[in-house]
Amino acid sequence: MPENLDQFEIAVAQVRKSAEILKLDSGMVEILSKPKRELTVNFPVRMDDGSVKVFTGYRVQYNYSRGPCKGGVRFHPNVTLNEVRALAAWMTWKTSVMNLPYGGAKGGVIVDPKKMSRNELERLTRRYTSEISIIIGPEKDIPAPDVYTDSQTMAWMMDTFSMIKGYSVPGVVTGKPLSIGGSEGRSEATARGAMYVARAAAKTQGMDTKKATVAVQGFGNAGSIGARLFSEELGSKVVAVSDSKGGIYNKNGLDMRKLLDHKAKTGSVINFTGSKAISNEELLQLDVDMLVPAALENQITEKNASSIKAKMIIEEANGPTTPKADEILHKNGVFLLPDVLANAGGVTVSYFEWVQDIQSYFWSLEEVNQRLETLMSKAYNDILPIARKENIDMRTAAYVYAVKKVVDAHRIRGLWP
Ligand code: GLU
Repeated sequence: MPENLDQFEIAVAQVRKSAEILKLDSGMVEILSKPKRELTVNFPVRMDDGSVKVFTGYRVQYNYSRGPCKGGVRFHPNVTLNEVRALAAWMTWKTSVMNLPYGGAKGGVIVDPKKMSRNELERLTRRYTSEISIIIGPEKDIPAPDVYTDSQTMAWMMDTFSMIKGYSVPGVVTGKPLSIGGSEGRSEATARGAMYVARAAAKTQGMDTKKATVAVQGFGNAGSIGARLFSEELGSKVVAVSDSKGGIYNKNGLDMRKLLDHKAKTGSVINFTGSKAISNEELLQLDVDMLVPAALENQITEKNASSIKAKMIIEEANGPTTPKADEILHKNGVFLLPDVLANAGGVTVSYFEWVQDIQSYFWSLEEVNQRLETLMSKAYNDILPIARKENIDMRTAAYVYAVKKVVDAHRIRGLWP
């Protein structure tokens, strides 16, 4: 039977695996396998040519036993309700892995932002925000950037929500520009967090990051900054990167600063001087020490998992590896740092931003990065012994660690009425 690639069914299968180890009863498993609240919005947007188009968006609040919901908003043509459900579930486990006082949520709009003008995108963002404003807010649910959304998107969201309220509400979204209550270090945080976890893992796995080679799939916010930090701060050699247009390879290493310039000028990494063109599939199968999937879901599946030669996988994307691939990689001794840990730096600095907004007291970049490193290495060092003791992969161990905390919160609050 071919592998089921439905993201939400994958997310539920991951929970069930940890539920078995935690010996949870069937009622609790059912609670954890369903989103708490889902909102679908169909809304009109005026296009630059005067015509009107109706777009569909979602906001799914998966679980808020541990605190207000938290999670990004994605603008992508392939967004589906089941994908948003899965991403909202993953946020629930991610905030728990990091011990942040949040639940999990996610939003998405079915749109190709690359085909929209800036004015169209602004109108779309504002109307989507007003449609979901009935369920978001600093104490309820706090959106943030995700695939193809950024600090400008967050500024429009913050402004729209504030206009509806009649006063400025900086804490309604995170990942904002610094001038309106954003945090130092937020734009680099996902990549920086991944780099801290990779460094902690290299120590326990006996890998010398200065001699390590790296391949990065995806060159958006997480992937491009990640590639630079692995090269500049870990001293590793980034030999391959890719984006939606294709991949490039140079066995002697790619010059990150020059490559970032090239991407800024041409809009892609392809045709970079001194590099050889490779496909995304070839990139995943390169003989490197560290492989960093930083694009979209379902990239490493039962079809290509046994061809992966990397020693360590650091998931900067959400959901890049399927459950069948997880089994194959674990059997083959590939050490995988799962998304709920490896890319949790973004939501962790989002949490710092929210705390700073509430206190109206802002921290230095050094303070932010130091606190991020402390929380990332604590999570890694809490999860590793679970994996070793139970002889399970790091994803299952992270789920055991995270799901237990959500279950404990649910139990102590009790079931109402
Ligand atoms: N979109 C990011 C993630 O998937 C960040 C979410 C946030 O900061 O709330 O973790």
